[in-house]
Formats: sequence, structure tokens, C-alpha cells
Amino acid sequence: MSVVLQVAVDAPGLPPLDYSAQAPLAPGTLVRVPLGRQTVSGVVMALVPQPDATRLAALRPIAAAHTALTPLAPAWLDLMQFVARYYQRALGEVIGAALPVQLRNRKPGEGTAAPPQSSNTSYRCTAAGLSALPGQIAPRSVALWRLARALGVAEAGETPAASTLPCLSLTEARRLHPHAVKVLADWEGSGWVEATAAAPVSSNLAASAAAPTLHPEQAQAVEAIAASSGFSPFLLFGVTGSGKTEVYLHAAAQVLQREPEAQVLVLTPEINLTPQLVGRFEQRFGAEHLAVLHSGLSEGQRLRHWLAAHSGAARIVLGTRLAVLASLPTLRLIVVDEEHDPSYKQQEGARYSARDLALWRAQQLGIAVVLGSATPSLESWRAAQTGRYQLLTLKQRATGVLPRVHIADTRRDPTLRASGTLIGQTLDAALRQRLARGEQSLLFLNRRGYAPVLSCPDCGWMSDCPHCDAHLVFHRTDRTLRCHHCGYQAAVPRACPGCGSLDLQPVGKGTQRVEEALAEKYPEARIARIDADSTRRKGAAASRFDSVHAGEVDILVGTQMVTKGHDFQKVTLVAALNPDAGLFTHDPRGPERLFAQLMQAAGRAGRALPPQGDTPASTPEMLVQTAYPEHPLYRALVAHDYPGFAQAELIERERGGMPPFSYQALLRAEHRNIDAVVEFLAQAQQLAAPLGETLGVTVYPPIPATLARMADVHRLQMLIEGSHRGALQNLLSQWRAELTALRSRVRWAVDVDPLDF
Ligand code: ADP
Ligand code: ZN
Ligand code: ZN
Repeated sequence: MSVVLQVAVDAPGLPPLDYSAQAPLAPGTLVRVPLGRQTVSGVVMALVPQPDATRLAALRPIAAAHTALTPLAPAWLDLMQFVARYYQRALGEVIGAALPVQLRNRKPGEGTAAPPQSSNTSYRCTAAGLSALPGQIAPRSVALWRLARALGVAEAGETPAASTLPCLSLTEARRLHPHAVKVLADWEGSGWVEATAAAPVSSNLAASAAAPTLHPEQAQAVEAIAASSGFSPFLLFGVTGSGKTEVYLHAAAQVLQREPEAQVLVLTPEINLTPQLVGRFEQRFGAEHLAVLHSGLSEGQRLRHWLAAHSGAARIVLGTRLAVLASLPTLRLIVVDEEHDPSYKQQEGARYSARDLALWRAQQLGIAVVLGSATPSLESWRAAQTGRYQLLTLKQRATGVLPRVHIADTRRDPTLRASGTLIGQTLDAALRQRLARGEQSLLFLNRRGYAPVLSCPDCGWMSDCPHCDAHLVFHRTDRTLRCHHCGYQAAVPRACPGCGSLDLQPVGKGTQRVEEALAEKYPEARIARIDADSTRRKGAAASRFDSVHAGEVDILVGTQMVTKGHDFQKVTLVAALNPDAGLFTHDPRGPERLFAQLMQAAGRAGRALPPQGDTPASTPEMLVQTAYPEHPLYRALVAHDYPGFAQAELIERERGGMPPFSYQALLRAEHRNIDAVVEFLAQAQQLAAPLGETLGVTVYPPIPATLARMADVHRLQMLIEGSHRGALQNLLSQWRAELTALRSRVRWAVDVDPLDF
């Protein structure tokens, strides 16, 4: 009996298409279908009931079906439909972004017949590995040899011990080699080992000696989460180090204990932070129950971890924003760590917010979702105030103390003006104290390179990017001028291109310049710099952080990369060198972000008080250098008063009719020809105006984007704003259809709930 299938095809901009098939296929089945002259992948969305014969005859048949893969669950298909609808993208595109490339590109029968029943957590040596590894490992690499032997590899001359090769679990491997995960991944990449099915799930996941006894506030939080039923959003509000992660771990353990088949999704904003978090979950639950999803995985790894989640073998799925789109058939709890972090918002394609989708999934499934932060988004804070989310508060640090925040007034600092180094008097004294005591200091500023611009004092020439509306940043180490937006690079000119003067001056300060100033001022200090330049090489960031942890660094200087997540035990001083720019951005979320960043940075100090022999340890301290010491944001920071800050910001937002008191969308448009963009947006405005009128949605005129020209492409945007989500959505779907019909050559996209302007 032939049937008609509605298939979401993996091709940009197309709605689901109809195909015929010999037999019914369950919705959620992965198929390959002809499209034009190509064959593309797709997912069956629905079966069309009782098609008539002429209709059937007119349709092209599907090329193949992946019947061996368990069909994607209806709840997952609903999620995809929602993402497509809400974020105004084609369904096939959304599904394409959610599925691993290797799954989409596979032909049926090619491996999918037996999806690995577990996460990537046990390894076995391949024949290639048996012969290659002995030649690859130096005889004195003891740890590597331990690992190799455990895999059955024999040293040259030895005969293999057993006829069948042993299977080594990751948990076991980590005991043999501290970087076993990386080593095995490398070996796997070379084809020397292969991942195999992992050990069976142990009956008691929570049984672990590593778990500390919870503090009363933590216990209450875990209790509240465990006792909840149905859709239950929680806001876990606690300063850095207050033990939020410990709450996640216990809440996850409770869920897994109650229901052996359950799955827990844990989202983390930064790929750089995942290893730490993964480490803690592995230690508690065992690596074999974990799957990890983030953009740093190879395609093969991504497929394996995705399948582990999809098959239900992975109990805990940990990942960055894309993990929120994973197929999780038995999902019972979602955790969003650092829920305020802007990197939860995808910035291209379907511009979804993983935080918001986490809430949507929790609501869909009727389960608990825990949003954790020391500085919640104003949306979450308001939701907690109005009772939509349940507020759980951790007031104290679990270990160590919170740093005291001091404001250093740069206006009254003669050294700053004279030297122009960004190291003021107060900071200098504080640094010297740390150096004398063998403690570490962490300095940060949001500018990499040496100086943000090179300028000629004689004629006013400035180093501007020829392709962007931005300055070229002066990098002293290799004497280049670089555009941080488009990547354009040029050698530093010998003389001013404007007037020929030889006296070109760096203006402003970047991390390289501060590093240089520090080296001059404190010749005895060991200084390290961490920013996008110093960590470009793979593994460079990790190795630099390692040397900080190992106590091989006295002063660490860097961009905001250094302020996030790391648990530095010996840091007792954190300084924000010039955060004031964040006070006065055109971005309405500027203050919120600055406050979050400074609180986060403060959290790097005083994680533990190191015993220092005879010298007393310094009181952990955060120093903020500013020309606006009276600013309410800094006052709130000194008082560690997030609630006060949030309250004040919310009043401003309400007054301005801004989110969370309104809903917004941006139409972004770009093209090399600026006239084309202007014309397109004028049409767009004309189309939107009547819709806005009837739906009660405000349509603002087009304006240039913050970076109005990037890589010779002109960028403009227009804002749509309404007080009801539904009305805004109505406008968007109609408007998008009309915009598509214009068939403009301009590149455009709708950004719903935009974070960046
Ligand atoms: P957060 O996630 O809020 O930054 P963590 O959960 O990472 O906090 O806890 C900070 C530190 O305190 C960690 O080293 C953690 O192991 C420790 N810790 C957390 N809770 C407890 C507890 N109840 N008893 C002892 N140590 C704890
Ligand atoms: Zn000049
Ligand atoms: Zn540029």
C-alpha cells in the first residue's frame, strides 16, 4: 500500500514536501529523498491519510529510509516545529542544524543498523594501533605506556598478553593517565583505538563518596527541586562558589535514582568551561553515563554522543547551547548554568535562545528546569519576583569568602595620568603586596592587542579598517595593524600615511600593552597573558590556565576570558582595569552585562584561603578602577547587591517599555550595495506598517547596525516591538512571507528576542 509522507527536507528555505513511499513510515523516521537532481536527507513529519491515486502518482518516491534508527520522538518533532515557527526559519533548516552532519549524510545501511548503545566511554585497540603504538610512544612516557598496556599493546619484543583485547573504560583510563580523554581522542583520530559500548549502568548512580554534605540552603534547594511535580521553573540565585553546581549534581542524582531510565540535560554557556563541569559530573556519576555535545567535537564524536542521547544510553547530557536541540527521549530535568550568559543565544541561522528553549522543553514535558546564576538575567529576576519562577537562594560561599570590592578613583590618581599604564596607585600597592606574599593577581580589560588605534598627533590620521567602520588595532608583537571584525591585516606604516610624520602614537591600551607595562614595573614577577591572540594555538588556553593553577604565574592579565568559571585557588586580587566603557554603551543590556562580568570576575578571588606558612594571607579583594566612583552600578557591586541593581534596572526598563516589559524582533539586512539595503528596508517598513497598525505592534524605521559596515558589507536593521508576544509573532509570520516574496538580493534575517543591537 503506497502512502504519502510529508518530509522536512534538509535544504534552506523550503517548507515540508510530499513524497510517496511503498509502506507507512513512523513520523520521526530519517529518510533520504530526491530534490531536483540531488538526494538530500529529511525527516518524516506526518503521513497524509488516504491520498487519492492521482496525487500519489504525481509524487516522487523517497530514496531510502533509515529504519534501523529509532524514529525521533513526537516531542522532539514538536520542539523543531516550535523553533521553526517562533524563530521564523524553515523547518528543514532547523532540523538540519539539530542533527549531526554524519547522520544526515549517511546512506541507509551505512552503520546506522546498530547505533552504539552507549556514550563514547570505552576503548579498544585496533589492529593498526597494535602495530603503530609501540613505535609512537617513547619508552620513558610512563603514563602513556600504562594506558597502552591496559589496551593490550605490547612493547617491541613482548608478545601480547591475551588473545582478546581488553576494553578500557574512560573512568579507568583517567586513573592511568591524567589526560586520558585527550590522548584517547587523538588515538581514535589516528585509527589506533575505537570506541565501544560502555559498561552497563550501575544501579545506584548517586552512591559516591565524593559528594559533600549539603549546607542547609543547598539541601533546601535540592529538596524543593526533588519535591516539584509538573512544569517547575526554578531560579537558583547564588554568588560564585556558593555551591550551585553541587545543587545541580544532587538534583540530578535524585532524579536518576528515582527513575533509572531518566535523562538530565545540563547546559553551560562556554565551551571553555565544559571540561571542568564535565569533570565534576564524571567524577560523581561515572563517565560512561555522560554524553557531551558542543561545537568543539569532531563530526564522528558528535554523532556518537548524539546517538547516546537519542538511544537513551546517556543519562546525563552536558553541553553548550546546541545541546538544547538534542533528542532526549526520557528527559526529566534541565539545568541551565549561568543562565544570564549571552552566548546562549545563537547568532546565525535559527537565532534561538537555548535558555528560552530549555524552559519551553520543560513546559512541554511537565518537568523541572533549574536556571542558575549569580547575576540572573532581568527576565528571570522579574519572573522570580512575580512568582512565575520559584526563587532558591544560596547566600554564602560554600568554601572561602567573598572578596571585598574596592573602588579606585582614577580621577585623583596622579600616576595614572602621568604614566598612562592603567596601573593606578591603589592597584600598584595591592599588586606589590600579593607579589611579596606569593599570591596571585588577575587583571582584566576588554581589549586585546597593544592599542585600540594608532594615530598621528600631527594631522589626526587614525588607523582605520578599509573594509569596516572600525579602527585597526595595533599589535606590537608582530608589528601589525589588525581588524578584529573582518580579519584584515597590514604592516604598521613607517610614516603617517596622511602627512609623513614619523611620530605615530598608539592610543588607548590593550592587553599586550598592559603586559608590557607590568613586566617593566615588576621585573621579578612571572606574568602571563590570556586572550584570543595568546591562545590561538589549539590547547594554548588550557596550558596557560594549567600553569596558573600550578602556581607558575604571579600576575595573570587578560580579556574577559580570564573572568569566567575558573577555580583559581591562589588568586587573592582581581582588578578591572578600565570597565567604564560598559557604563555608556548604546546597548540597553550594557549595564546588566557589565555588572554580571564584574561579579563573575570578583568570583575568581578568594575561592580558598591558601595556608601561607608564616605570612598571613591577604584578604581577597576586587579592585575596580573607574572615573565614576559614585555610579550606582559600582555601588551595588561594592555592596554585593544584585537584587538592588536588578530592581533599579527593571524600573528603567519598565519606564522605557523595554524587555522584559515588551517583546522585540529585529530585521537585519545586509549587502555590499548600500542602496539595495536601504531600498529593501524601505519596502519592509511599508509592508510592516499596516500589520503593526492592526496588531498593535510598533514598527521603527531602519537604522544602521552598530557596526554599520563590516568586510565591505553594509548592515542595517529595523526594530519591531510589541507588548504581546502573540501579536509580535503574528506580525512576523505574515511579514516574513511578504518579505520572501520580494525575492530581494539583499541578505536578510529576522532575529526574535535579539540580544545584540
Ligand atoms: P558554584 O557552582 O555556585 O560556583 P560550586 O558548586 O562550584 O559553586 O562550589 C564551590 C566550591 O565549594 C567547590 O569547590 C565545591 O566542591 C565546594 N562545595 C560546594 N558545596 C559544598 C558543601 N556543601 N560542602 C563542602 N564543599 C562544598
Ligand atoms: Zn599625520
Ligand atoms: Zn575590518
